[in-house]
Amino acid sequence: MKLDITSIIKNSGGIISIQVEEALEDLKTSLGTVSFISPVSFTGDVTNNNGILKLTGVAKVIYSTVCDRCAESIELELVVDINEDIIEKEKIDEEAVEIFDDDRFTFSGNSLDLDRVLADCILTSIPMTQVCREDCPGLCPVCGAKISEKACKCEDNGSTDSRFEVLKGFLINNE
Ligand SMILES: [Zn+2]
Ligand SMILES: [Zn+2]
Repeated sequence: MKLDITSIIKNSGGIISIQVEEALEDLKTSLGTVSFISPVSFTGDVTNNNGILKLTGVAKVIYSTVCDRCAESIELELVVDINEDIIEKEKIDEEAVEIFDDDRFTFSGNSLDLDRVLADCILTSIPMTQVCREDCPGLCPVCGAKISEKACKCEDNGSTDSRFEVLKGFLINNE
């Protein structure tokens, strides 16, 4: 959405509370194995700090991907802390000769392109590794079966006492 900042733009210290939930165009295409499957929710505010807009808050979105270790399809929630300074575009153009920094977010006139800031922050916050759970044991290197499901006996050479197998199951279930 384009946030109307008319009420704070001339007023240093002015603040607008934001609570939105919407699907972002920029997140509709999938990135590698990651695809976003929920709208983005954002709760926070934007403050005019001597002409620089400070956007702070928390964005949340759910995405689907596959576990790096066991290739299971998983859905994860991405929670992104947002803390961005947004500079008036015309001001950047004035200083462009000295400072060349394309990474800064800008606003122009009375509107702030909230979608762009949120999409950018979300896209740069996707973890490099995705696992279904921290201790996912992955796939058996011998037969390719999922170790977590005990679908194979490759590591069990038949030497394990069956009474201990029962005990192991008991301990795992009670963790
Ligand atoms: Zn896994
Ligand atoms: Zn195996």
